[in-house]
Amino acid sequence: MSRTQNRPPTRLDGGAEALLAAVLRLMPKFTDPACHGHVDLFDPPGEREERASVVRRHEVALRLCADCPCLDACRAWAATEPPTGAVLAGRITNDLMETA
Ligand code: SF4
Repeated sequence: MSRTQNRPPTRLDGGAEALLAAVLRLMPKFTDPACHGHVDLFDPPGEREERASVVRRHEVALRLCADCPCLDACRAWAATEPPTGAVLAGRITNDLMETA
């Protein structure tokens, strides 16, 4: 009898496909997010990107978030994400710009 036959089944037992399905079930369901097709606006500051460029991008991204139908779900999910300097759920996830 193999080791896996002696324990209860886990999400990993179905292989990569089952694991991906389990991860996707845990992700919030975003229907028609305002950032769709505009993710570059939300990115953290680029290594050589000028501050004015970052500010312009993030201002547009913040306006998109403000009108996004997924804002509440996104806020709940964003609370679990590490800060990166990106715009997420209507906020800049940390203030990298202040140190740039
Ligand atoms: S609230 Fe979230 S899903 Fe909506 S535009 Fe902003 S980052 Fe995208």
